[in-house]
Amino acid sequence: MLVDSHCHLDFPDFSSELPQVIQNAHDAGIGIMTTINTRIKQFDEVHKIAQTYPHVFCTLGTHPCNAQDETDITLEHILKLAKNDKVIGLGEAGLDYFHDQSFKTEQKKVFLTHIEAARQTGLPLVIHSRDADDDMADMLMSEMKQAEFKILLHCFSSGIELCKTGLDLNAYVSFSGIVSFKNAKNVHEAAKLVPIERILVETDAPYLAPTPFRGKRNEPAYVVHTAEALANIKQLDIKKVHNATTRAFFELFSRVPEQNYQGWEL
Ligand SMILES: [Zn+2]
Ligand SMILES: [Zn+2]
Repeated sequence: MLVDSHCHLDFPDFSSELPQVIQNAHDAGIGIMTTINTRIKQFDEVHKIAQTYPHVFCTLGTHPCNAQDETDITLEHILKLAKNDKVIGLGEAGLDYFHDQSFKTEQKKVFLTHIEAARQTGLPLVIHSRDADDDMADMLMSEMKQAEFKILLHCFSSGIELCKTGLDLNAYVSFSGIVSFKNAKNVHEAAKLVPIERILVETDAPYLAPTPFRGKRNEPAYVVHTAEALANIKQLDIKKVHNATTRAFFELFSRVPEQNYQGWEL
């Protein structure tokens, strides 16, 4: 069994095909999918999908690229929504200076609210960081010093220094299809550095389809190819990669009822 720890099943790319996409994933041995919220104001949409499909879970959070639209969302509101059935984590939240640098202040404010929610709920925080390595490392180090919280560096594509900082702070690290791209040397370097016990795999579908589907619409079934690329880079048996990444998922996302999955072949 393999887990797609990060996909966006509410995006219009799937719409009417969603039942087929989920069936494809199960046929490929994907036991669990987590559909990730990017706008808290649209939480109902991801939550509805998680409630419809037994093996789909969801998160709750504001993507940094949407931060300027959700600065008014309070900690209390997040804490209340986090109690919903099938919510297993917070985020994706963080910093993204790649698309737009004009809302750094808003991004930091919203990210801090998510950090506090992660502390108070004990839920892991799915972190999105792009072109913001230094600010991300600074924020994580200073916030973690004040009081700890659980973190997942998702779709890791940052520099090796942020990877090392993350590991010092007990982060889990999730790799997407980028790890299968030949030219993604920094991601390969990070994949070698992170112990397999702390690695999760994801698609970030509909984006970032792994080789051999690069450039096409991605879907959770393709996470198999990400695991394969990871096995090659770390020179591990593919079964070991399936087993370890699924184990890491259950350790981090401890709200998922692991006992329901004991029948699955690991
Ligand atoms: Zn992201
Ligand atoms: Zn995402």
